[in-house]
Amino acid sequence: EEYAKKATLAPQIPSKTDFQIDSSLNSSLCKKVSIFQGDITTLEIDAIVNAANTSLLGGGGVDGAIHRAAGPNLLAECKTLNGCPTGDAVITGGYKLPAKYVIHTVGPRGEKPGLLQQCYRNCLKIMAERKLQTVAFPCISTGIYDYPNEPAAHVAASEVRKFLEKNSEVERVVFCIFLDQDHVIYEGVLQSYFPLK
Ligand code: ADP
Repeated sequence: EEYAKKATLAPQIPSKTDFQIDSSLNSSLCKKVSIFQGDITTLEIDAIVNAANTSLLGGGGVDGAIHRAAGPNLLAECKTLNGCPTGDAVITGGYKLPAKYVIHTVGPRGEKPGLLQQCYRNCLKIMAERKLQTVAFPCISTGIYDYPNEPAAHVAASEVRKFLEKNSEVERVVFCIFLDQDHVIYEGVLQSYFPLK
């Protein structure tokens, strides 16, 4: 609820008074994460993350939605990249999307936490290298690739927290939730990794 109210798009940063920050955390850190429930292709943000497959040539789920919304030039750029190994990430333009860039990452099939951690880490590493400030992640691997939803949310939150503890240039990380069940899970998981009260 709280995260959802504060969520939506990149430039909206909740006011300081809404929060009483856990003293163990940097006070600016918890304000940088939010939940948006809906279609990731609608977000006007520096980068959206695609849960792609190793071919990078498009697929179902969020990958299909991103390619449909971005138009054929995204596929043309992806064809030049010669694929991407599981756990790795690559960046392309956003083409017809409102997002400036797409960071394509390939999640593991099934519950393989080391590889899912690498996905989040490598996407965030690209954010830092490119000096991008706002990013939205879908629930990588939890659709067709069948990673259990709650353990996947813990990996997502813990990797984002670790990154934000070291990097102060990324301004906003949006967890883009599609399914109601993930919304419930993320409300709970984010409360523990990014406590608001
Ligand atoms: P994977 O193959 O990595 O499991 P999927 O695309 O099958 O990837 O699923 C990843 C998550 O993306 C799932 O939670 C799915 O419900 C969600 N999803 C599907 N379409 C969209 C969309 N347009 N925007 C955001 N999330 C989406």
